[in-house]
Amino acid sequence: MLKKPFVTKDQLEEICKKYPTPFHLYDEAGIRKTARDLYKAFSWNKGFKEYFAVKATPNPTILKILAEEGCGTDCSSLTELMMSERCGIVGKNIMFSSNDTPAEEFIKCRELGGIINLDDITHIDFLKETAGIPDTICCRFNPGGVFELGTDIMDNPGDAKYGMTRPQLTEAYKRLKDLGVKEFGLHAFLASNTVSNEYYPELARILFQVAVEIKEETGVELSFINLSGGIGIPYTPDKEPNDIFVIGEGVRKAFEEVLVPAGLGDVKIFTELGRYILAPNGHLVTRAIHEKHTHKEYIGVDACAANLMRPAIYGAYHHITVMGKEKEPCDHMYDITGSLCENNDKFAVDRMLPKIDKGDLLVIHDTGAHGFSMGYNYNGRLRSAEILLKEDGTTKMIRRAETPQDYFATLEGFWD
Ligand SMILES: *Cc1c(COP(=O)(O)O)cnc(C)c1O
Repeated sequence: MLKKPFVTKDQLEEICKKYPTPFHLYDEAGIRKTARDLYKAFSWNKGFKEYFAVKATPNPTILKILAEEGCGTDCSSLTELMMSERCGIVGKNIMFSSNDTPAEEFIKCRELGGIINLDDITHIDFLKETAGIPDTICCRFNPGGVFELGTDIMDNPGDAKYGMTRPQLTEAYKRLKDLGVKEFGLHAFLASNTVSNEYYPELARILFQVAVEIKEETGVELSFINLSGGIGIPYTPDKEPNDIFVIGEGVRKAFEEVLVPAGLGDVKIFTELGRYILAPNGHLVTRAIHEKHTHKEYIGVDACAANLMRPAIYGAYHHITVMGKEKEPCDHMYDITGSLCENNDKFAVDRMLPKIDKGDLLVIHDTGAHGFSMGYNYNGRLRSAEILLKEDGTTKMIRRAETPQDYFATLEGFWD
């Protein structure tokens, strides 16, 4: 799949006249289309709802756009709950899928009427003593072992800190029922960034089977099943993207085969996608400011790992387009670096690209999720602005860039 930026060079040069690089740019049309297609793909399910994983892109403008498309929020911290509240996304439009949760966050979630997704059986008593047991509750499942699709090991739930074991799950539903809970859900997140149309259907089948067993063992009839996040995107151009319609149809088939015969045909399907919805609809825009010829060829850009951490911490590939040079041969091998005093501050290593000149604009692809949000202030580097490319082609700054004053703000009295 050819990776094409959602802006042209001329468009981008215009945008850069208004906002200095580096910045994160989001494509409203793309975000809306991705959300609409998701809802279409699951339209067979009455009550389907996407709870956007706020941690992927915690920006109020983005959350409100998604709310207009029918999405709620998946929160996991106090500030994410507060942001959701300020956006007017409250009540059952909040899924609180946290772990190692402080009491004040359970209390806040209950205050907002959000759905608590319990990570552990011991949290039942903790919740009872702190925030009280709500009418609706979800339990997070971790089957252990490895998660396989065919012969491919996709991920390692047995090594993950999240969720309850299968026997704990049964115990948890029994206790919660005794404590007066009226509406129940089941959740699991077993593999991350899956580029496969089989992940969701396979996960759904596992959870649907568990739902049938829970009904037999405890009499609890689940009202929703939350497939969580994990649908990925192809960061490299050689992979085919997921087909959300094939995925929706695969989940429908498992639903018809497992839940419907067990009298559970009213179960609502929920999702908590972050990456799938936002990642491809965001670019990190940066400019080449230096070239360096030593033991390797380096291009220094004005963004750094503080703006996008994934290459530095996971060695993640992010495709790069040198704007205006799309048709030129990729006959130069570069390391594309930021300015941190850390040698892993490289957006690309040994990457074949067209010849880059100082001043060229570079688009780093697929940065709309887990991009800005993972930013940090190492080396005193400041977080960039976030810009929305609206459907009408105009732009709007939806978060300003940090200033040195922001950086010093927590050192009370130091810079006043
Ligand atoms: C991170 C996370 C998500 C979103 O994951 P993506 O890979 O962005 O889809 C959803 N649910 C929970 C509980 C998470 O921790």
